[in-house]
Amino acid sequence: IRELTVDAVSSNHAEEIVQAVKAVPEAQVLNVFDRTFNLHRGGKIHVESKIPLKNQMDLAMAYTPGVGRICTEIAQNPEQVYNLTIKGNMIAIVTDGSAVLGLGNLGPEAALPVMEGKAMLFKEFAGLDAFPICLATQDTDQIVEVVKQIAPVFGGVNLEDIAAPRCFEIEERLSQELDIPVFHDDQHGTAIVSLAALINALKLVNKSLEMVKIVINGAGAAGVAIARLLRKAGATQICLCDSKGILSLSRSDLNPQKQEFAVTAAGTLADALQGADVFLGVSVPGVLTPEMVQTMARDPIVFAMANPIPEIQPELVRGIVAVMATGRSDYPNQINNVLAFPGLFRGALDCRAKALTMTMYLEAAQAIASLVKPSDLHPEQIIPSVFDPRVATTVAAAVQRAARQEGLAGR
Ligand code: NAP
Ligand code: MG
Repeated sequence: IRELTVDAVSSNHAEEIVQAVKAVPEAQVLNVFDRTFNLHRGGKIHVESKIPLKNQMDLAMAYTPGVGRICTEIAQNPEQVYNLTIKGNMIAIVTDGSAVLGLGNLGPEAALPVMEGKAMLFKEFAGLDAFPICLATQDTDQIVEVVKQIAPVFGGVNLEDIAAPRCFEIEERLSQELDIPVFHDDQHGTAIVSLAALINALKLVNKSLEMVKIVINGAGAAGVAIARLLRKAGATQICLCDSKGILSLSRSDLNPQKQEFAVTAAGTLADALQGADVFLGVSVPGVLTPEMVQTMARDPIVFAMANPIPEIQPELVRGIVAVMATGRSDYPNQINNVLAFPGLFRGALDCRAKALTMTMYLEAAQAIASLVKPSDLHPEQIIPSVFDPRVATTVAAAVQRAARQEGLAGR
């Protein structure tokens, strides 16, 4: 075999195939062609000029001396930066590489392919330009300071793959100190899409958000943000668990975000799940068992969103659960943040929202949920497809409406 085309998206599979061929005594692998690696060679995005530069006049207008007049104009009328530069359509995708996908603290260089991919999604789904900023620091003060210093170029900041609990403080401080939208996608993107899916799942089982008992397993970036948004949406019975079990008032090891949700009950995930209506997993693979699901209330809803391997394999609870969702594209009901963040920033930038709020997140979730018509609603179809072209525009409109109602729209 001279060339082996590995048609696997997962590098584990690619390696497995190569090993299998190598194991054949008479086979010799000379060259491996891995589609996924090839696609990333040289990076996935580039900067392109919008204006032709063919002659002296072009040059004189796009660059000096013509550009000098534009500079003076912006210096005199700072708001003009939105009209006369890239700022109004440009997002900074900022990471410190400390929580890359589910892979952990890989550092800024290794985070870059993910941030390039994120920039592609912004462009594809919302027509937004976005640039990856991978910082060589994991210090909260330094990250806040750097982002503030580069903010003039950007209309919004998408924080990405920054580990909890540092991510909470970084986002809070930047939101306060900058007058452009700041959004930590691993928190709020997840929360918005989870809520959208839950709104529709509850319709299927005829239960209301106010009445259901919800257990969230995982109290990191995603878990805390989901809990906050569910509370904002009207949920009253929320129990969070982390690696040590229920976030109980009796525990002395809880950070401030976990303390927000501490309850009098104590115990394990299994204890928390007895009689629960909803399990939302944003933790680690395999921690939920069919036996635990069997102790839940009638028509249990299970969202097992640990990526890439869920808290429980859907096959194990088929027939036991009423609605099942995961973070994966190869099962029905994928909870995918791309349903939220492109439209959210599109809406925020279009109305020059000075900040993002929980009301906007709530409206975005309701907008996503509303795209599944009652007649199409089905246990295997509780959220729209990521390729549904209505998603970004509908989310953007909802965010703009909320921004105007809250007096946060700059135009
Ligand atoms: P994170 O900030 O690191 O939080 C992980 C949380 O899981 C922590 O609170 C941790 O507990 C908890 N945990 C670890 N082992 C546990 C166990 N055995 N039982 C219960 N809880 C346990 O990570 P994150 O960003 O929130 O993401 C968490 C998971 O959700 C990842 O797998 C991620 O891929 C997935 N996720 C999926 C989506 C999606 O599907 N759209 C979106 C976001 C995240 P301690 O606090 O005690 O360490
Ligand atoms: Mg992320």
